[in-house]
Amino acid sequence: MKLALVSLGCPKNLVDSEKIIGCLAGADIELCPDPRNSECVIINTCGFIKPALDETENVIKELLGSEKNSMLRVYVTGCAVNRFEAELKKKFKRVAGWFRLEEQKRLVQTISKKNSVCARLCSTYGYAYLKIADGCSNHCSYCTIPSIKGEYKSADFDRIIKEAYELSRLGIKELILIGQDTTNYGVDRYGEKMLVPLLRELSKLRNIAWIRILYAHPKSIDPQIINEIADNQKVCKYLDLPIQHINDRILKLMNRGVNRKKIESVLHELLKIKGISLRTTVITGFPTETADEFKELYNFLNNGYFDWLGIFPYYNEPGTRSFIMEQLPEEIIDSRYRKLLRLQKRLIRTKNRRYLNRKLPVLIHHKAKTLIGHTRFQSPDIDGQVRVRSREKALGKIYKLRITRISGANLYAI
Ligand code: SF4
Repeated sequence: MKLALVSLGCPKNLVDSEKIIGCLAGADIELCPDPRNSECVIINTCGFIKPALDETENVIKELLGSEKNSMLRVYVTGCAVNRFEAELKKKFKRVAGWFRLEEQKRLVQTISKKNSVCARLCSTYGYAYLKIADGCSNHCSYCTIPSIKGEYKSADFDRIIKEAYELSRLGIKELILIGQDTTNYGVDRYGEKMLVPLLRELSKLRNIAWIRILYAHPKSIDPQIINEIADNQKVCKYLDLPIQHINDRILKLMNRGVNRKKIESVLHELLKIKGISLRTTVITGFPTETADEFKELYNFLNNGYFDWLGIFPYYNEPGTRSFIMEQLPEEIIDSRYRKLLRLQKRLIRTKNRRYLNRKLPVLIHHKAKTLIGHTRFQSPDIDGQVRVRSREKALGKIYKLRITRISGANLYAI
């Protein structure tokens, strides 16, 4: 049977998709890159905010209506199913099967009669995501993730190491640690934070050159983690630290569990690390955000602490605590969002200028018209890219290259 998988949403979903496909791939199943040429397609969905749900619905609609292949069997799984199962079932009656996140074993059995989700087929070159936890117990007031994924659950330490070892044997050079709150890893399972021991153990894998931490939380980051980032040669001097806002009143309404002082003290310590690059994400237009509170956020970001900045306009999601708060008009949310986008562009351009004419290690991870890679200070597919003008470099390898040009968020190298 010819089978395709469409993975939507975040890297955590991609890891689930790789595990599903890894288990299904075998004698009776041929993997097919184009769903329209396959007999069966799995859509692993995202649905944590409205644009993600819209994308999910568009993909389902498009594949169900595929003129090229009207016999295509469509199976749908993932976050959107957990959040909107009843509505989606009503809308898309021709879907062959719906599977919640916790039912992915049943999905595998339905398609191939196999008994368990048992392997992983890595779909990226050079780097791979390593999911160390899932779910979240922070319950930020705007966030749907705890209701979709449940409470925070750390993965088993030894199983993570085993998975990382297997990835390293496949030629993976960079491990990217993901979870909703990676800096809290271990607390629920082992009664203490275990990220530092995990980083030390992963660093022993001979083929692994870089380890990157995404989704750190300013509430759970501590001096031990900061010291490990500073001292461990394999850990990228890079941290993704979503702050979401900086004004104390808004942070409290968001239920972030930190105030401006705490965020500043974490940043103060992190910025002592030589060569550190920081990424953050913020939400603007949160209910009741005043012009002055927005200005406080703008001015804070304008200080230039962050090398990479992700910006979300506030989406009012049913089922969240902020849903019933007094909402701002859409025009205000949009205009604040646009202001931050302009700031983002300027800040990233300024930061990137530092790299011009420098020789930097670049991990080549994609082949398009040019080769695409990333440095230790860029997370692939999230921050800017390095476009490499050379055909001789191999995918999945690290090369020291000279940065010759900068354009927007991207660097060019030869
Ligand atoms: S930390 Fe907050 S925003 Fe992030 S997943 Fe958990 S509840 Fe959602």
